[in-house]
Amino acid sequence: MQLRYSFRVYPNGPQRSALARAFGCARVVFNDALRVREDARATGLPFVTSGELSRKLTASKETPERAWLCEVSSVVLQQSLRDLEAAYRNFFDGLKGKRPKLGPPRFKSKRDSRQAIRFTANARWRITPGGDLSLPKIGDVRVKWSRVLPSVPSTVTVIKDSAGRYFASFVVETEPGILPEVEPAVGLDLGLGHFAVLSDGTKIDSPRFLRRAEKRLKRAQQALARKEQGSNNRTKARVKVAKAHAKVADARREFHHQLSTRLMRDNQAIAVEDLAVKGLARTRLAKSVHDAGWSAFVSMLEYKAVKYGRTLIRIGRFEPTSQVCSNCGVKDGPKPLDVRVWQCRACGVRLDRDVNAAVNIAKAAGLAVTACRARVRPGPVPAQRGEAGTHRDGQKTVVGIPGP
Ligand SMILES: [Zn+2]
Repeated sequence: MQLRYSFRVYPNGPQRSALARAFGCARVVFNDALRVREDARATGLPFVTSGELSRKLTASKETPERAWLCEVSSVVLQQSLRDLEAAYRNFFDGLKGKRPKLGPPRFKSKRDSRQAIRFTANARWRITPGGDLSLPKIGDVRVKWSRVLPSVPSTVTVIKDSAGRYFASFVVETEPGILPEVEPAVGLDLGLGHFAVLSDGTKIDSPRFLRRAEKRLKRAQQALARKEQGSNNRTKARVKVAKAHAKVADARREFHHQLSTRLMRDNQAIAVEDLAVKGLARTRLAKSVHDAGWSAFVSMLEYKAVKYGRTLIRIGRFEPTSQVCSNCGVKDGPKPLDVRVWQCRACGVRLDRDVNAAVNIAKAAGLAVTACRARVRPGPVPAQRGEAGTHRDGQKTVVGIPGP
């Protein structure tokens, strides 16, 4: 399977200038090619092929207006044309209904929040014996290697984000690292009160480092709102907001990585609800849905399941998981969001709303979990042994039952 590995890079002054030039050239090539196609479409001429665009690029380097394109690696410019091809392909596939609808390719601006260039093997980029990233016509850039690359990558994308940071992103081919089989299986309810609730009763909140980053972002946004339009202070405050934003995104990704790895390591199978975030986004829940970044988290679970040889099951999105009693299966009717604990009218069991939903998700996915974790009770009661797939976390206080 292919995985993307990103590392922070620290270009020096001249390298930053060279990168700015490369970003600019890649953008101009992209925009020139897009204009050629748009002009052809506007005048009713046939679609301009990619081969033709490539020839036009080579010819334009001979003209005085575009001679400066020779200052950057030609591979970067060719890759920019490839990006345009991909943008058109996605657009056409959207029209044909092969994927969600997208707008037509748009012109790039130097004010875009993300600037990127790509080097393929043809560009002869390499990692030096000293651990620098050697890029043609840019130089040897210092890299902070936060982990080991599992294999030799063939392409590298250099990115500058809105906070002014630089990253090198490598695509590498990896062998799945199948983990030894374990017994537990869990259902996962991605809730609003907690980030996630497991069918074994564990409730997971976002960690303090993420909450702190979010608080700082909020303060920066409030400060920006108070600054006068067009003032210098406003520009400074905007940079602060962009940096705080990047920190929140990083902290969230870090949290998702830690949690998804832990869940996949500890469980053989995980069931989640198919959230169809797009549908939810239209309701007033929209903000919390996007903030929590569930879909990013679920896609992490998905690729880690493949990587570690585990199972991820998505259940249909219209299962009323919070309305059905996980003990007797009777549907008890809708529950307002503020009802955290309810008593089943059929069997009389008191249930924790979130854990009950997580157990129902696991059951709907066909996982062998028991309903007892959803019950609300004053003290620990002895657990029955020998129930396949029961996660015993949270039962360490029970005498005679060893913890995992
Ligand atoms: Zn019941």
